[in-house]
Amino acid sequence: MKAAVVRDSCDGYVDIKDVTLRELRHGEALVKMEYCGLCHTDLHVAAGDFGKVPGRIIGHEGVGKVVKVADGVTNLKIGDRVSIAWFYKGCGHCEYCTTGRETLCRNVENSGFNVDGAMAEECIVPADYAVKVPDDLDPVEATSLTCAGVTVYKGLKTGDLKPGQWVEVVGTGGLGNLAVQYAKNVFGAHVAAVDINDDKLAAAKKLGADLTINSQKEDASKILQEQVGGVHSAVITAVSADSFTAAVNSLRPDGTLVAIALPQGDMALNISKTVLDGIKVAGSLVGTRQDLKETFQFGAEHRVHPIVQTRKLSEINDIIDEMKNNKIVGRMVVDFT
Ligand SMILES: [Zn+2]
Ligand SMILES: [Zn+2]
Repeated sequence: MKAAVVRDSCDGYVDIKDVTLRELRHGEALVKMEYCGLCHTDLHVAAGDFGKVPGRIIGHEGVGKVVKVADGVTNLKIGDRVSIAWFYKGCGHCEYCTTGRETLCRNVENSGFNVDGAMAEECIVPADYAVKVPDDLDPVEATSLTCAGVTVYKGLKTGDLKPGQWVEVVGTGGLGNLAVQYAKNVFGAHVAAVDINDDKLAAAKKLGADLTINSQKEDASKILQEQVGGVHSAVITAVSADSFTAAVNSLRPDGTLVAIALPQGDMALNISKTVLDGIKVAGSLVGTRQDLKETFQFGAEHRVHPIVQTRKLSEINDIIDEMKNNKIVGRMVVDFT
């Protein structure tokens, strides 16, 4: 079967190769992929940024149907549509795995990085970790919810967002536009969208953002403090350390800054403000199986729609170039059907 694998040189591109997967082990299922989205994380893997993994099949935004199950599989049957997410498997018995924080497991396995992923015609999944995709959810849209969707949904939960509260979404690209949709249509919150790109801000406005601010032209913190008394939480999806530092000043007392993006470097945090205003700072990494299940359900209810476009596997290195050159709006999804 055909698969996109990391090159021996780890030069940031992939080769399409014929690969034979190993036999299924106890508790595993074989999934015939229908669609898999290409994510910036895949580009990091292909470039060896997290450690070199030549020969690894990339992909962690996969959706497909179960075609075979091994002994010991009780939760999946042939024909079920499931997802393959970055969180592939936890150890199952550590402090984090047993208390609903499994993505923090120190022995976590990640699809398309330390195990073969979903950018292939077939993929092996541990059945207990494969989250089902609801019938009412478009499988192409489901690929984006598997990664960006669950990441922002979990981020909004981490900020403890409540109906009627204000959330600042910093960065309105692939993650941010979904954050606006979940914040408005699922959490019932007021949304201030902040970006440096007017086109992206216009798109956020269309998706329901109550306020849009171009932070290159205006002081977002000042506007948010003056107009709404500061936000209850700020979710940072912009890959810019300065955005983190700036967003602290947008928070109202007892507000929470939720870090999702991964820029290099440090953020500045004023100690007096942190203490006197009871500011909280939280990192948020993808989401658990339960988070993903909920993320999918809201997609199936048509409360959120990621921007997706299908492409062929043979175009994958072109897509990588387009992503590197920031030419893509939404997500490119490889069609295996
Ligand atoms: Zn991803
Ligand atoms: Zn664990």
